[in-house]
Amino acid sequence: MKTDMSCNDDRIRERLVAHGLRPTRARCRILALLSARREHFTPEAMYDALRAEGTPISIATLYQNLAKLSEAGVIRRFVGPDGVNRYDAVTEPHHHLFCEVCGRMVDVLAKGPLSSVVPEAVFPEDRSDLAGWKIKGRKVEFTGVCPACQARLARSA
Ligand SMILES: [Zn+2]
Ligand SMILES: [Zn+2]
Repeated sequence: MKTDMSCNDDRIRERLVAHGLRPTRARCRILALLSARREHFTPEAMYDALRAEGTPISIATLYQNLAKLSEAGVIRRFVGPDGVNRYDAVTEPHHHLFCEVCGRMVDVLAKGPLSSVVPEAVFPEDRSDLAGWKIKGRKVEFTGVCPACQARLARSA
């Protein structure tokens, strides 16, 4: 049987240790998968991908470690535009460009003066509710249709 401490990627192991986490096999596999593919996996998709790679992790162990990794700040949990929990190995501030058709999600930065973006009331009667707020964070979410989906939709039209 393989030892639980096997983590043969130095970069991944160092990242875990730097965040105060023991580099267990499960944590290494999860972080390696998230970092290599730059995808924004749901836990279910991650479970399938790890199985496909020949390094399966039980669903309970996966959930436990996803919680540990996000608590420690190694990965970031977020809710996608589809309302599903996803995980991101990119912890630097960024936005997402989401394909409404296939669910593909790309990391992006917003071009333009995001620092000056302010929330505006949708209904005039709510205007006074927005007065006096201290804005502490700004997040932009882009949605659209990726080139592959556009081509597929054009062919099937
Ligand atoms: Zn697409
Ligand atoms: Zn991302």
